Amino acid sequence: MKRIIPYATQWIDKEDIGAVTKALKSDYLTQGPRVKEFEKRVASLAGAKYAVAVNSGTSALHIACLAAGIGRNDEVIVPAITFVASANCVLYCGGIPKFCDVREDTINIDVNDLKKKITKKTKAVISVDFAGCPADLAEIKKIAGKKGLIVIEDASHALGAKYKGDYVGYGKYSDMTIFSFHAVKNITTAEGGMVVTNNERLYKKLLLFRSHGITRDADLLQNKNDGAWYYEMHVLGYNYRLTDIQCALGISQLKKLGNFNARRREIVTEYDKAFQKLPGIKVLHRSKDVESANHLYVLRFDSKYFKCPRKDIFEFYRKAGIGVNVHYIPVYYHPFYKKLGYRRGLCPVSEKYYEEAITLPLYPKMTKTQITRVIAVTKEVLAKFSKNN
Ligand SMILES: *Cc1c(COP(=O)(O)O)cnc(C)c1O
Repeated sequence: MKRIIPYATQWIDKEDIGAVTKALKSDYLTQGPRVKEFEKRVASLAGAKYAVAVNSGTSALHIACLAAGIGRNDEVIVPAITFVASANCVLYCGGIPKFCDVREDTINIDVNDLKKKITKKTKAVISVDFAGCPADLAEIKKIAGKKGLIVIEDASHALGAKYKGDYVGYGKYSDMTIFSFHAVKNITTAEGGMVVTNNERLYKKLLLFRSHGITRDADLLQNKNDGAWYYEMHVLGYNYRLTDIQCALGISQLKKLGNFNARRREIVTEYDKAFQKLPGIKVLHRSKDVESANHLYVLRFDSKYFKCPRKDIFEFYRKAGIGVNVHYIPVYYHPFYKKLGYRRGLCPVSEKYYEEAITLPLYPKMTKTQITRVIAVTKEVLAKFSKNN
């Protein structure tokens, strides 16, 4: 059987395998020196003071919301086009996700709609750097600053991306930035995530929530009289720890991030060149302010130009061996959210985007032949399905 070109896949080499093997043979499997080392390296890359490694991007979002103090009936603004985890983390805390529409050209938060969605109950904004392209972070920060809102940046797609010259996570525009190291992301620890922040108070809370709410920090202990075995539980935390084995992989992968992202950029440039001028097709916009981490490559097929629904185009790609995907279904379309009372019509730009979007394969290990094939099949799509033909 012909192998299908996936939309994304990891790139694990001998060095990664060597690093993991070494960790397996060491004294530490769980919370050893590699966790601290990985945190230090990600913090240093982002330019942030503190980092807390956790077992997934979703856990990172959860403890970020907990550290932000999100609780019952607090409203948190989330873009409608994102992975469900960006909104679920609000529900975990008893809060209410308020869906905000996205910009038509970047699919990042539309700051005008953001302003409209703020109420007296709004406590935070979770902005998503869609497809690896940082959102309008300066404007989001300005709006949040005026209203006293906490900004959590979901940079699951954006490790290594830059905004106005600073690496995402630098802390100028967000109180906490989260990354995911799931296998399809820009680097991987299989599953894994991290929160970076410059705020020491938030950092201490994140540490507590990561590990059962337990502390051994002498400054924090309420009872100072017991012995060296003693620890205290101060909040209801979780076990969200990332293993030393996974951090070994993370450290090794991080060394390649620069090359990975450079390769992603090359492929995107090639795609853009091939697709930009094709009728009925739109590519994502990237402003001059940003350097995208190019996590996803999305094409939009304008329904006015095609004689079939997006679904038929999607099926055509799949039959041609191209593992296309769709990112994302508006979060509030999901039956669980429908049950909570969310209805269609909330975010019109997001809804229209969803009708048109198809994600093409993009990953550093992609070969020239695979890229050429994706471009050729896209041209076949136009020849077959355009109204003009
Ligand atoms: C992948 C992803 C997450 C969740 O990360 P996991 O590590 O899979 O838990 C959250 N938000 C966005 C935008 C993502 O793409």
